Amino acid sequence: MIRIGHGMDVHRLVPERKLILCGVEIPHTLGLLGHSDADVAAHALMDAMLGAAALGDIGKLFPDTDEKYRGADSMMLLQQVAELLHGEGYALSNADITIVAQRPKLRPYIDSMRHRLAQVLGVQDSQISVKATTTEHLGFEGKEEGISAHAVCLIASTDGAEK
Ligand code: MG
Repeated sequence: MIRIGHGMDVHRLVPERKLILCGVEIPHTLGLLGHSDADVAAHALMDAMLGAAALGDIGKLFPDTDEKYRGADSMMLLQQVAELLHGEGYALSNADITIVAQRPKLRPYIDSMRHRLAQVLGVQDSQISVKATTTEHLGFEGKEEGISAHAVCLIASTDGAEK
């Protein structure tokens, strides 16, 4: 009746790109590079949700070779993933996201990020957790070459049946 999913994603940090995390634009000197808006946290969450339902991954659903997804708003993609899961008879129980970034400090944006995701997913803010950590300057995140994100979620079948 309940299923677990995990997702992770990485995007490169570059100048002259917006930094968008969980649908929230965050003022910073660097932004994430990608075919879409490169919202690494939203991408990890989508992969967790798709993984929980064994429906593949976002690379399969929204190929980066498809011009349709150039500059795509990841919140639109997240909404599509949520609709897909609903169509398969699942509802999101909760999700927990960890963003790994040396800079900028994300704490001031955490509640906005939770609220934005909850809004798009049609759930309560209390069902969505967003956390941030640094790596003490270690690795690519610590050297500010990129940002990674990890997500886990639980989904439940809305008809109570085992899938
Ligand atoms: Mg991605």
